[in-house]
Amino acid sequence: MTIHAQTFECITCHESKPFEAFYADRSRRDGKRRACKLCDHAARAERKRNVTATREIAKHLAMHAARKRLREQLAATRDNIAAPVSISTAE
Ligand SMILES: [Zn+2]
Repeated sequence: MTIHAQTFECITCHESKPFEAFYADRSRRDGKRRACKLCDHAARAERKRNVTATREIAKHLAMHAARKRLREQLAATRDNIAAPVSISTAE
């Protein structure tokens, strides 16, 4: 058996593929990712979609937070303006 005949089983598609079909991963003891390149691409695309979705949500939340801040600032400004008036008319 030569090193070229060595195959690894992909944890995602469960196909036995040659060493070259896997990306290198230095954080792993065997130096290879456990999912083959094809599955890795699919997973990465999926993650990217999720990141985009998360970004959209974050943008939306940030917009809401900014509006809330603006409302609070306006309310505070209104209170400051209203305060002397209300004092003068109170008695
Ligand atoms: Zn695979």
